[in-house]
Amino acid sequence: MLVFSVETSCDETSICIMKEDKTILSHIVYSQEIHKKYGGVVPELASRAHLEILQHITKEALKESGVKLNEISLFSATCGPGLIGGLLVGSTFTKSLSIGNNKPFIPINHLEAHILSSFYNNDIIFPHLCLLITGGHTQIYFLENLDKIKLIGETIDDALGEAFDKVAKILGLPYPGGQEIEKQALEGDENSFKLPQPLIREDNFNFSFSGLKTSVNLIAKENIIDNYFIKNISASFQKCVGDILFFKLKNVIKKLYKSNTKNLSISVVGGVANNDYLKKCFHNIERKENIKFVYPPKQMMNDNSAMIAWATILKHSKNHNLNFRPNPRLTI
Ligand code: ZN
Repeated sequence: MLVFSVETSCDETSICIMKEDKTILSHIVYSQEIHKKYGGVVPELASRAHLEILQHITKEALKESGVKLNEISLFSATCGPGLIGGLLVGSTFTKSLSIGNNKPFIPINHLEAHILSSFYNNDIIFPHLCLLITGGHTQIYFLENLDKIKLIGETIDDALGEAFDKVAKILGLPYPGGQEIEKQALEGDENSFKLPQPLIREDNFNFSFSGLKTSVNLIAKENIIDNYFIKNISASFQKCVGDILFFKLKNVIKKLYKSNTKNLSISVVGGVANNDYLKKCFHNIERKENIKFVYPPKQMMNDNSAMIAWATILKHSKNHNLNFRPNPRLTI
């Protein structure tokens, strides 16, 4: 079985050709540069950019893999959540290939693909917890098994990646802001500014990052934004985020597992999982609570089509549905 998968839900256009045994024959991720000058993704420009590049990278992926289009067994694409323009471009393109080659089309939920990404390179024992941290979502899922995935907590306002990007923008750092903040924070003093930790003591598993961003904005207005300030506020912001995640996860463990953490593993997935400082925070929980933190392979952290292909193989290879309509608010 050969799977051809497409991801276009935000500003990455990506195509993957994967074998049933999960060997990646080709994986192309094209990150749209056009949004940099706007400091964030412009939906209309994103859809156009997907449209312009899809055919080109399809040829590239086929060439790289040495596979002919008529040898593909299944076509799958992200059908939500995401920006509707991008979802329509990607799913319509993939559906056309599936019709043209008389092969099934499989719609894939982008969030589920993120969640399943850590199953690619880890042997995970159920029940399992997953922290999904991206530019569009910040959620905690409880997985009883592959078919019972339950959302137990999420941000009530900004996503974590979004908060990183907004703080970077306030400080005049380039988009995407996550890596920039992390870089600046390396040389800053994390205790220079005290920032709020909303919902941290609340009796639920939800997050809130919007007030944190507002706080950084207020502090920035009272200070001269020079290199010294940028390094210190970046470090303080990152520490605050780390503390929030630390407390929330500890709370989940205490409530759901009554601190009996034998065999418990938590996967951290999505683009923000690339942040090395946050990984250190998770490592601290690991040491204290006898828990294992696991991550997907690097190429499946940011938006990518390898996770779409993997979700198709792992769980959805029989769920054909050519009539599935892309849904920007698709949930699990
Ligand atoms: Zn994503």
